[in-house]
Amino acid sequence: MDETVDYAAIAAGLAEIAAEVSVCTACELHKGRTCAVPGEGPVNADIFFIGEAPGRNEDETGRPFVGQAGHLLEDLLEKIGLTRDDVFIGNVVKCRPPQNRDPRPEEIAACSGYLQRQLELLKPKVVATLGRYSMEKFFPGAKITKVHGKAERQGKRVVIPLYHPAYILRNMAAMPDAVRDMQRIPRLLERLEQVLADEAVQGIKPPVPTPEPEAPTGEQLSLL
Ligand code: SF4
Repeated sequence: MDETVDYAAIAAGLAEIAAEVSVCTACELHKGRTCAVPGEGPVNADIFFIGEAPGRNEDETGRPFVGQAGHLLEDLLEKIGLTRDDVFIGNVVKCRPPQNRDPRPEEIAACSGYLQRQLELLKPKVVATLGRYSMEKFFPGAKITKVHGKAERQGKRVVIPLYHPAYILRNMAAMPDAVRDMQRIPRLLERLEQVLADEAVQGIKPPVPTPEPEAPTGEQLSLL
């Protein structure tokens, strides 16, 4: 825990977002939800995983990634010595699309403010997108098969696009890549912390966060 951070304020902010999400009617998805799924994780999470949308299990429990895909995410986290309790896990949309269809652009747009506020509160050092819908927010126009595992510094954080666990379950041939991509995260975190510390010593002001995720800079973390 960082003594300079007001974790109580972060917890209160996250709770406020969860309360708003639970009664939100900003898009059509509210009509079919049993429980909204705002996301969950510790207030001091360094890593924020962003998936696409809740599925049936998530809709029933109000928790993200609790079905088969969630178990696979937990297995992948275990490979880097973490559990789901160490990271924040959320989704691009907080309510389940009917029959698990893809979220629509207008639904993603309607829900984006909640995700943005969660990012602003938590200030994660690493954002790991899961699947193409969350990737699109940080790497517009990119193709997941081309950019998975390729991290980029965006402001004070690093964003790394990962395959969605549900995709891996349908395409087990992607598993070795998925493991390799996940295994990059500890080193990315360590390297970013070092670079930010160096910049602080040198008096280099980190880029100011913008209300929306920063546009990609093309800067690869490996070049830092
Ligand atoms: S998906 Fe998001 S915007 Fe749509 S109703 Fe649920 S919380 Fe509101």
